[in-house]
Amino acid sequence: MIINCSTNLAHNKKMNVYEMLPKKQFANIFFVFLLFLLFPTKIFSEAESNIILGVEVDSSSPYLPVKVKAEKKLEFRVFTLKNPERIVFDFYNCKLSGKELKISVNKRTIENIRVAQNQLSPDIVRLVVDLKAQTYFRFEDRGNELLILFMLVLKGITLKTSDNSAVVYIEGVSMQSEVREEKVDFPPRMVFDIKETVLEKNIQQQISCGKGGFTGIRVAQFSVSPYIVRVVFDVKVYLKHEIKRDFEKDLLIIEVKFPAVYKKKIVVDAGHGGKDPGAISVYGDFEKDINLKVALYLRDFLLSVGADVKMTRQEDIFLPLEERTRIANSERAEVFISIHSNASELEKCRGVETYYFGEAGKKLCACIHPHLLNSLQLLDNGVKRAKFLVLRHTSMPAALVELGYLTNKKDAELLKKENFLKNCAIGIYNGLESYFGGSYSFISPIKITQDVITDFNELKKLEISEEEIETEYTNQKLPPDLEVEK
Ligand SMILES: [Zn+2]
Repeated sequence: MIINCSTNLAHNKKMNVYEMLPKKQFANIFFVFLLFLLFPTKIFSEAESNIILGVEVDSSSPYLPVKVKAEKKLEFRVFTLKNPERIVFDFYNCKLSGKELKISVNKRTIENIRVAQNQLSPDIVRLVVDLKAQTYFRFEDRGNELLILFMLVLKGITLKTSDNSAVVYIEGVSMQSEVREEKVDFPPRMVFDIKETVLEKNIQQQISCGKGGFTGIRVAQFSVSPYIVRVVFDVKVYLKHEIKRDFEKDLLIIEVKFPAVYKKKIVVDAGHGGKDPGAISVYGDFEKDINLKVALYLRDFLLSVGADVKMTRQEDIFLPLEERTRIANSERAEVFISIHSNASELEKCRGVETYYFGEAGKKLCACIHPHLLNSLQLLDNGVKRAKFLVLRHTSMPAALVELGYLTNKKDAELLKKENFLKNCAIGIYNGLESYFGGSYSFISPIKITQDVITDFNELKKLEISEEEIETEYTNQKLPPDLEVEK
């Protein structure tokens, strides 16, 4: 009652207060007045409004990020409006620190960003994004900062192939600044992650190619937080590629080179066969079977990338040497590869050799031999010249490989392993790829478990002196091919 009274009185004439009140009442009024002075906000106002300090648009970024900065944590709601398309952010209990804003963007589908005080008490600041068309966006609530990003939209993928390459056109993401590339093994895939991108609905998500080791393309929305579209190239071997951008047509272009062996005519010859077993291993395995397995793996690798492969034999049949060279010559093959496994009277003899006859064959061997060694991790017996019939009578560059010694326990054990035989084929494949000028589309050798593969320290102990090798070759029986010829 006292306060009411004093308020009324104060509204009339201040001077009267003192006159009309007894001394005790005056003291109370003064106390209340003091309280006002000490705690004005507590008594008079509700929670203070947040202040929007600024709004910025980075139009140099493909995602046109909009940053809203405030004094305190922002509370807001987001909605869209049609006719025309708009995105609206209402910031509650907010006041604009400066004037109304209109930022003209005119990039992609974004026209303007407008910011204004939409209403007072309650205070609402409204941010409107004027759009030319519906747009995917996302926002990050960072407390007193809000980040709005406009997603790119992948609108389609097309594929065109030529003689030695394929070109993939990805529409809608030319501005994409970040494409993460990754090689994935088993089976090999080339993965491209296109960030802050949305996949348009109803687009073709799979395209097959089937040329040059390039099986096809798959595309999918890999993630929505963050938005990532993943484009996968299914491949037989990794393909050399280059990423380009056409901003005018809004295309991200990935040009893929086929392996160098693509369409190359290669004759693969599995040594021996049928009634001719070739060498016999310490475990009783026939050379002809090992050679054929490696030849078939090589055939498959080459076929998978689109090489034009001809086999002298694909099964366990006898084939005279002249027939083998006749096939290569009549096919007009670009190269001839004869696959053998070695034998020696010296049990400790082991390792890899590659043979040529002419100069052209020497070049071929120079490419195959190092890849074979790399793939097999066996002792290097070098590239050598030999008068094998298949090397002398072929009219194209020809090489004969000897994939370890069946007469050596370690080598023979390795030659029993399918993965080792695959590695033989991989080594030859990589050598051929290198011979035809390829430098990228190699196949990685298979890791063979430690108990099977011999480490190099052990190889060192077994290493044969030059002198011994000399003796070995001069004393050796006739080369296997010539034996068969007899
Ligand atoms: Zn042989």
